[in-house]
Amino acid sequence: MSEQWIYLNGRYVNKNEAVVSVYDHGFLYGDGVFEGIRMYDGNVFRLQEHVDRLYDSAKSIMLEIPYSKDELTEIVAETLRRNELDDAYVRVVVSRGVGNLGLDPTHCKEPQVIVIAEQLALFPEQLYETGVEIATVASRRNRADVLSPKVKSLNYLNNILVKIEANLAGVSEALMLNDQGYVAEGSADNVFIIKGGVIKTPPGYVGALEGVTRNAIMEIAQLRGFEMREEVFTRHDVFTADEVFLTGTAAEVIGVVKVDGRQIGDGSPGKITKQLLESFRQTVTEDGHKIYTRKEVQAG
Ligand code: PMP
Repeated sequence: MSEQWIYLNGRYVNKNEAVVSVYDHGFLYGDGVFEGIRMYDGNVFRLQEHVDRLYDSAKSIMLEIPYSKDELTEIVAETLRRNELDDAYVRVVVSRGVGNLGLDPTHCKEPQVIVIAEQLALFPEQLYETGVEIATVASRRNRADVLSPKVKSLNYLNNILVKIEANLAGVSEALMLNDQGYVAEGSADNVFIIKGGVIKTPPGYVGALEGVTRNAIMEIAQLRGFEMREEVFTRHDVFTADEVFLTGTAAEVIGVVKVDGRQIGDGSPGKITKQLLESFRQTVTEDGHKIYTRKEVQAG
């Protein structure tokens, strides 16, 4: 790929020209929404779900996206085509747009729509073999009645702060609790535990993003005959689980082998975790919004 094309407000521009104003409220205040999407071998995984979530996030903060869902879907597809990508990570950003230095969004007349598609920097395969260590952090997840974690907003400070805490603790990811002390999620992934063959993840109201990967894994778990429950749980349940794993667009399904110094299972990713990752990888292309096949890309 010689040049990288970025969609910016109706035009496809070169990466160096893809700049936004310092008066954009996305920059000044984190006022906007976004999505992280993945393409596998020419198929965009659950694109419709990502687009729906983006529009729900926008509706929640009263930000009107200046395109229909179909138009935005086509913009994502065209950005991928122009960059001749087949395995890619796509970032869609809709910011409130240019305003003045005051925070009142009524001065922002035009939302900015940006689509960036890049060759995927895959998580090292070895991480799926060894699993990761996580630690509970002091900062709690945003309360749903303050800034709902269901809104995938450009305000990611809560997530960034817990990532800093995880880094300071020398672990890969943070385990975030909600204001009542129940397990919510990671800084950019959902959390699951397995005990006695029963798989659990916190329900939305506990305070977590409704992850597209999370939903896919819940469906796969049910199809494979596991008992799958959305249930509130505590750190104790995590410490004493047979298996723990995280899900996310970038991470897919990654085993957790240590939580706050407590080893999980035998200290390597569990059997069911591995089965779910395998099934997930089998479905990602079938479940996708087909843009083109790898062969077409190579021929073109
Ligand atoms: N929680 C948070 C806070 C996230 O940022 C993400 C990544 N989008 C997830 C969970 C996982 O969601 P998904 O499976 O849709 O990537």
